[in-house]
Amino acid sequence: MDITNAATWLEIKRAAIVNNLQRLRQITATDIMAVVKGNAYGHGLVEVSRTAVAAGATWVGVARLEEAALLRENGITTPILVMSYTHPARSIEAAELGVTLTAYNPQQADELARQMQGAASPLMVHAKINTGMNRLGVLPEEGADFLRQLNRLPALQVTGMFTHFCCADEWQHPTTARQLSRFIKLVEQVNHEGIRPAVIHASSSAAMLYENEARFDLCRAGIAMYGLQPSSETPLLDGFEPALSWKARLVAINHLPPGEGVGYNHRYFTTKNERIGVFSAGYGDGVRRRPGNIIILRGKILKVIGICMDQCMVNLDEVPDAQVGDEVVLIGRQGEASITPQDIAANWQTTNYEMVTGLSARVPRFYI
Ligand SMILES: *Cc1c(COP(=O)(O)O)cnc(C)c1O
Repeated sequence: MDITNAATWLEIKRAAIVNNLQRLRQITATDIMAVVKGNAYGHGLVEVSRTAVAAGATWVGVARLEEAALLRENGITTPILVMSYTHPARSIEAAELGVTLTAYNPQQADELARQMQGAASPLMVHAKINTGMNRLGVLPEEGADFLRQLNRLPALQVTGMFTHFCCADEWQHPTTARQLSRFIKLVEQVNHEGIRPAVIHASSSAAMLYENEARFDLCRAGIAMYGLQPSSETPLLDGFEPALSWKARLVAINHLPPGEGVGYNHRYFTTKNERIGVFSAGYGDGVRRRPGNIIILRGKILKVIGICMDQCMVNLDEVPDAQVGDEVVLIGRQGEASITPQDIAANWQTTNYEMVTGLSARVPRFYI
């Protein structure tokens, strides 16, 4: 299987990821953590990480220890932060992989340390501060005590401290300023008390673009690195480029008389003589079984009229010259037409984040 004969496939432009990372470094003037959780937002964990590290990302951010382990297996030696929960029974595994975990409250930190008994080297952790997301982390007022606790645990080595904004993708949301001022106050306190960890970070894409005071030592770039906007209220600045296209092929054309039902449960009926095209992608690949999906064929936007696990159907009225073998674009550009993940997300009533993260593992990724 290669790009000429796959049924459905993703094309990922490495140069776009490299460009977007350079752009983020220019804008932030900080180091960048490449956030590659969720199979690199559907773009492919290992290859995106390789590209990002080669382009100068000094950290890689994941959500699961398995993701970190896969990167280490593939020769990525860059510092890796697991930003969410890891079962404490896996402390030693993380330490042996040289992976940094998130310490997010006193009990969990004690448990991480307890599980390290007999370990050869300490476990690196970043302390998580809850400034308003109200998910993981200690309150900023408890941050200094938490760092002192971590410093007392010889099994743990505190190398960083971070927080996360809940509303940074809403234009000038007052909560962002409130979170930031609470975090800055803590940073000043730990500086003053001489317990400042080496790496302080707060911003994901929306904040790193729009909150100048929130950049600290490192910014955690997910969606913007892929050339996708955090939200319509916090669009990308000039010079970003989407990395991802999603394609399939037209694999059959059925000439049907009026009154024929198409697909499962005959959700669509022909009203005249119609040519119904079948293309080779379905909900097993990341299409959702909902009305309103569109694709591009021969430069024209067409409505999807039937959705199965591995195929979908379209009406070919507007593309009389369509032929079996034609390329179908689900995400990307063809001629004058384009479909973005945010277009699809709007139709599915979700975000571009969820849309691309739902692209299935079985879809082959080609890096160009
Ligand atoms: C996912 C995630 C990010 C990346 O967010 P983007 O908006 O995609 O840049 C950053 N930090 C944390 C803690 C995350 O969970």
